[in-house]
Amino acid sequence: MHSADRPDRYAVIGHPVAHSKSPFIHARFAELTGEPLVYERVLAPLDAFAPTVRDFAAAGGRGCNVTVPFKFEAHDLAVQRSERAALAQAVNTLRFDAEGWFGDNTDGAGLVRDLQHNAGIDLAGRDLLLLGAGGASAGVLGPLLAARPRRLVVANRSVDKAQSLVARHALWAHRHDVALSAVGLEDCGTGYAVVLNGTAASLQGAGSPVPGAVLGPGALALDMMYGPAAEPFLQWAREHGAAARDGLGMLVEQAAEAFQVWRGMRPPTAEVLRELRTGRAG
Ligand code: NDP
Repeated sequence: MHSADRPDRYAVIGHPVAHSKSPFIHARFAELTGEPLVYERVLAPLDAFAPTVRDFAAAGGRGCNVTVPFKFEAHDLAVQRSERAALAQAVNTLRFDAEGWFGDNTDGAGLVRDLQHNAGIDLAGRDLLLLGAGGASAGVLGPLLAARPRRLVVANRSVDKAQSLVARHALWAHRHDVALSAVGLEDCGTGYAVVLNGTAASLQGAGSPVPGAVLGPGALALDMMYGPAAEPFLQWAREHGAAARDGLGMLVEQAAEAFQVWRGMRPPTAEVLRELRTGRAG
């Protein structure tokens, strides 16, 4: 705590932020761990992200989460970055250290933890298909490769964006012994064990941007979206015999990872995820 009577302040900063479930999640983490903190929503004007973060820090903020569309600007604001944030070139967690702001990206660790721990899928040696090459895919690719799948294919509508994301991760993939490649959505191939949707297609009410043949026997298909917007993709997965999973687990696990960056401890997540699924968060 900063002072004896004031809890430490954190926030999610984005545009929009009204929909964010992060204040509920971090308030529950604080209750469950007994950590003295408060967590707010801060709406940053689209042209004033940096001043908004500086004002929050000057007013006693200790750190913040960063959401759409500011993750790339947050990367540039940090003077020190984790390896995974540097690979992603995007930051979703800032910690306001006195010696300079530290930037991390917890999205990928959150996704991997949800897949491996909550869904019970061992990624090592499996074939993975990652759909999309925007901010969400950039954030998760490094940690996915570190889980050592046999093969990871990044498929995107604009193939050049998938290619540059893959090129940036080539050394990292080599270091983890993963065959990494980029293709267009129409050239995905077939029979993957895990299909991850990081496109914004769900936001436009579409199901899957690829055919059902991408799903191998017993496959898991996960949409990084959650709520009604994820339903068409999840429905598509079930219709093709796959296990379907939304992005709520990833959301809670990336928040737990951010909490650890700030507080040095990992909060329990299962109860909070259950509460979100049963609508307690409102
Ligand atoms: P971006 O705008 O950065 O990227 C969008 C991506 O979707 C691009 O690859 C784009 O392809 C592709 N795309 C858009 N429309 C279509 C379409 N109709 N068909 C096929 N591909 C399409 O968005 P983000 O990467 O930031 O976010 C993507 C999703 O991930 C969002 O739904 C977001 O809510 C979710 N997310 C969830 C998180 C969680 O914790 N659960 C964390 C972060 C994100 P192209 O390059 O060709 O334009």
